[in-house]
Amino acid sequence: MERLDIQTPHKNYPVIIGDGLRFKLTEFLSKSYSAYVIITDDHVAPLYLEDVKTALSFSTNVFDFVVPAGETAKSFATYKRLIDDIVALNLDRKSCVIALGGGVIGDLAGFVAATFLRGVAFIQMPTTLLSHDSSIGGKVGINHEHGKNLIGAFYHPEAVLYDTECLKTLPASEWRSGLAEVVKHAIIDSPELYHRMRQEIPTFDAIDLHTFAPLLKAAMAVKANVVANDELEAGMRKFLNFGHTLGHAIEKESGYGVLSHGEAVAIGMIFALRLSERIYHIALPVAEIIAWFKRLSLPIAIPKGLTSQQLLERMKYDKKRADGHIVFVLLKAIGEPEVTPVEDAVISNLLAEFING
Ligand code: NAD
Ligand code: MG
Repeated sequence: MERLDIQTPHKNYPVIIGDGLRFKLTEFLSKSYSAYVIITDDHVAPLYLEDVKTALSFSTNVFDFVVPAGETAKSFATYKRLIDDIVALNLDRKSCVIALGGGVIGDLAGFVAATFLRGVAFIQMPTTLLSHDSSIGGKVGINHEHGKNLIGAFYHPEAVLYDTECLKTLPASEWRSGLAEVVKHAIIDSPELYHRMRQEIPTFDAIDLHTFAPLLKAAMAVKANVVANDELEAGMRKFLNFGHTLGHAIEKESGYGVLSHGEAVAIGMIFALRLSERIYHIALPVAEIIAWFKRLSLPIAIPKGLTSQQLLERMKYDKKRADGHIVFVLLKAIGEPEVTPVEDAVISNLLAEFING
């Protein structure tokens, strides 16, 4: 069992990581609530919902809502249906919403918790590897037809209870998506964590769930530290976007679903490393990282069919522009990220080289 204490100017809360937490979640609740509203999706419900309900069986007020799995659940329609159903229960402000699922459920249920009765308690029970990232940091929300996460709030949970046993049923593609963000946290943090991760996760097949909890804790601590210093995203929180400038463009241009978010970010990280070498005239261990990503089954090349012009245009539409330049998170060294505007010509030249091998 691992424990991480998250401190923010607004709230302190624990992250508990360990095998079988869902069976004993009440041990980690600091108080009891008048009602428990579990929100989950239809992949996770058949696997883990009964376990959580059993753990809460001391209460006569336990309700569950199952939404269809996938990004489409982060919609106004699903949000409204949930709020309608919850309002009908006549709950009071001492109720607690439990998000049982991946980042989609965490964001959706967190937004329900943030807005129902101007905010009720909220517990994150992440079940994907990617939700090591999404369950902390306090961002919750839903999508709008004009873009992802356009409606939301900063709202922290009371606790994050991360049952690593649930990761056993996670499909390999979801493992890869989450792994890329775990690795990102190590690369932006320090040479020590980077080397430790490389040693402890040498290949995708070598991942051992029993030894994974300390690594998850380390990756979550990186995000927690960045967020603690910049809760509302004014400065260094941008470091978390390492790999995401090109990653988002690849994700959008190749069509959602072709590559997972993390896979696109993995390619974006390799590009950002190469761009860092070029801009700062330094040498980074790019070849070493490429070799490691290959062993982790992470993609390292831009998918066939995408052009440098297309990707550049897509990045230009992105909102993170300063003085007309596309903004990248670059590295001066492993563990030393810096937010840097880069001229279009430099990007498109390197993109063309990257695409042509
Ligand atoms: P997800 O919640 O859609 O989960 C991925 C898939 O895995 C789904 O089909 C889900 O049903 C299934 N699943 C979940 N747990 C499982 C388990 N234990 N066993 C088997 N299947 C399981 O996606 P995700 O990748 O976890 O999260 C992506 C979302 O997170 C996006 O909407 C993104 O915007 C959001 N996000 C939010 C933040 C934040 O700071 N709030 C940060 C990063 C990402
Ligand atoms: Mg991401």
